[in-house]
Amino acid sequence: MNAKIVLLPGDGIGPEIVTQARRVLEAIAKKHGHTFEFSEQHIGGIAIDETGNPLPDATLQACKNADAVLLGAVGGPKWDDPNAKVRPEQGLLAIRKALGLFANIRPLTIHPDLADASPLKMERLTGVDLIVVRELTGGIYFGQPRTRDTKDGHERAIDTMEYSRPEVDRIVRLACKIAMGRSKKVTSVDKANVLESSRLWRTVANEVAVDFPEVTMEHQLVDSCAMRLISHAATFDVIVTGNMFGDILTDEASVLSGSLGLLPSASLSEGTLGLYEPIHGSAPDIAGKGIANPLGTILSAAMLLRHSLNLENEAKAIEAAVFSAVAEGSRTGDLGGTLGTQEMADAVLNKLS
Ligand code: NAD
Repeated sequence: MNAKIVLLPGDGIGPEIVTQARRVLEAIAKKHGHTFEFSEQHIGGIAIDETGNPLPDATLQACKNADAVLLGAVGGPKWDDPNAKVRPEQGLLAIRKALGLFANIRPLTIHPDLADASPLKMERLTGVDLIVVRELTGGIYFGQPRTRDTKDGHERAIDTMEYSRPEVDRIVRLACKIAMGRSKKVTSVDKANVLESSRLWRTVANEVAVDFPEVTMEHQLVDSCAMRLISHAATFDVIVTGNMFGDILTDEASVLSGSLGLLPSASLSEGTLGLYEPIHGSAPDIAGKGIANPLGTILSAAMLLRHSLNLENEAKAIEAAVFSAVAEGSRTGDLGGTLGTQEMADAVLNKLS
């Protein structure tokens, strides 16, 4: 296979971890006879410094012409001024919108050897293997009106929670397709006891489920889902939910694993183009020290192979290499070890060959 992959290292530790994920992609390409053509582009703070725009046209064009995009992270104290006209995060929101990335997927499995890094007891973690499918381009983060004004002499602010039938249909459908390759169970999360948008969400979810007779569709209110994630996470398989609920639940779920540095994510469009990135930020406190954990980015590269290039075996090979490197005791500082970013990637590469 020939594939064009755009790398967006971004800010902070982004360049360090993306460099290591690229090495792993190059190694797997060589091993399996593929040719990956890489192009590096700016996004976020570095793009503001270079062009004044957190998502320069050249970056967007390169991404639109690519088969897949691998991103490090954006942001940092240098660009944190709340009064700044442009901010690194705007680059992320803009690229999601421009590429039609409507679905964010975050898998979570607990590596048994790392369970002690989790704040939860081992018995709460056994068997945890779930995926959160979050709607990414709708809901309260984008609904209109969104305004500040004065009412009855008091300043007030308004956000709008809005979902349309097609928006709910496509995300629930994707969740059902993912569930078909797993244990065929979807938990749709909403706040249907209070919100009208959630009642539409639930209706549409039930209608979509009719097209997937093998899938069991259950509904859960977001507040009780938040509790169940801590108390009985192993009872979930695929969770599908709206933008804001997903934003909060995915961060909660990530805590179960004990380290932000381990977890990958994918943002998918209706076609095969996707953007893949670790779930953590740019970690300015450790940037430039060569100690960041590259595994979340390497596992994101595995998701890239699976979802955008349809290379399931290669994706599994990377995941297995990460698993056995960790099982062998290879650890960066965030996991209680002493390896640097490059050495951790070396440990994975050793397991690949
Ligand atoms: P963060 O995820 O960058 O860091 C939180 C903590 O986890 C820090 O102590 C950091 O050192 C550690 N950490 C994160 N990734 C790690 C890794 N790979 N290896 C080892 N340790 C790791 O979150 P934050 O500190 O809240 O945010 C820092 C910056 O990142 C902010 O500017 C924020 O806006 C941005 N951010 C970007 C994204 C993104 O690009 N998608 C996501 C979240 C935050």
